[in-house]
Amino acid sequence: MNDFRPEQDLCEVRREFGEHGGVTPSISRSSTFTVMDPETMPEIFGGVRGPEEGGCFLYSRHFNPTVDILARYLSAMEGTEFAVCTASGMSAISCALLQICRSGDHIVSSDTIYGGTHALLNELFAQLGITTTFVDPRDPDNFKKAITPQTRVLFTETMGNPTLKFADIRALSKLAKANHLQLVVDNTFTPMMISPARLGADVVVYSLTKFINGASDLVAGAICATKAMIHQLMDLHTGRVMLFGPTMDPRMAYDIIQRLPHLAIRMREHSRRALAIGRRLDELGVPVTYPGLPAFRQHALATALINKGFGYGGMLTIDCGTRKRADDLLDELQNKEDFGYIAVSLGYFDTLMSCSGSTTSSEISEADQHKMGLSPGLVRMSIGYTGTLEMRIEQIERAVRRVGLVSN
Ligand SMILES: *Cc1c(COP(=O)(O)O)cnc(C)c1O
Repeated sequence: MNDFRPEQDLCEVRREFGEHGGVTPSISRSSTFTVMDPETMPEIFGGVRGPEEGGCFLYSRHFNPTVDILARYLSAMEGTEFAVCTASGMSAISCALLQICRSGDHIVSSDTIYGGTHALLNELFAQLGITTTFVDPRDPDNFKKAITPQTRVLFTETMGNPTLKFADIRALSKLAKANHLQLVVDNTFTPMMISPARLGADVVVYSLTKFINGASDLVAGAICATKAMIHQLMDLHTGRVMLFGPTMDPRMAYDIIQRLPHLAIRMREHSRRALAIGRRLDELGVPVTYPGLPAFRQHALATALINKGFGYGGMLTIDCGTRKRADDLLDELQNKEDFGYIAVSLGYFDTLMSCSGSTTSSEISEADQHKMGLSPGLVRMSIGYTGTLEMRIEQIERAVRRVGLVSN
């Protein structure tokens, strides 16, 4: 376990007061900003003179004061020099990868990734001449073997969606450095709990839509990296964030800023409850996968990656074997027990659950799903923290008994 204290680092960012001394920041909704001295315009446009260098904000696709506050908080949490916020997790991933890769380049990616990212790499990037080799992320050697002279990027999720396979970020970082590659990590499932940049990742991408915002009421993303990389992404003439334009609205930034202070508390509670539920299911002989259980194949690696005190996260899976039994379990849990909601996405205060193979991983072919160990009956749960834990355990216990998943 690591001693990193992302909460502490978050508090070290200078507090931004609102315009009238409010304890909350102001929402700056201007799309454009007044240049007081016309002589500074060329420097501002050249990106040489930003708001910190005596210039000013220029245009809100480039820089917006409220969105900038969120970026500073996120980079502090992550331990990177800088960050840029985007309109979604997908735009963060596509802009980051397209900033590094050109046509002819090659990516080695984990095969256990979000369906949208898989489609981006496998279909769209392939059409652009950027090819990807997918490997099992559990062994860094698999990445090593797939590297070619054209490789530019190693891509992985810290804890893969939905099979909860972990990637050894430290080992991948060493491999990337030895081969002059960029290690890009999607840390959407494990914010605060794991700090990939502190373990050696070059670029950390997020869907803020999930745990970080935590309220399932908006879609947003972010890229955390070095100052040089973020400047490249925001370059007025060549930056991918500038040119594709997935801009975050300042109102969204405000909402997320207001929820970051309790992210640590939420992550701990998601973890505490998921562990208790996982343990109970395990005792009952239900085929449950949770990284905090000693029987979890990569329990030792997970333990070595996490920051002290955050537990093993809010994600848990149950393998129901068949799609039919998965649907029966979901129906019981939502419609008879009120345990949670059948919905894609994760990181909400209520439990969200879905059958991954036919939903969030449906972009991945049946053969590829089989290869990555994704059973058609796999139910993915993002464990929430409403109600009492005792009541939740009773509800899920009754449901798994009724659908015949209990063997002990
Ligand atoms: C949801 C998700 C994404 C995509 O994020 P959006 O905000 O929906 O664009 C990417 N990676 C992971 C791991 C996700 O769970």
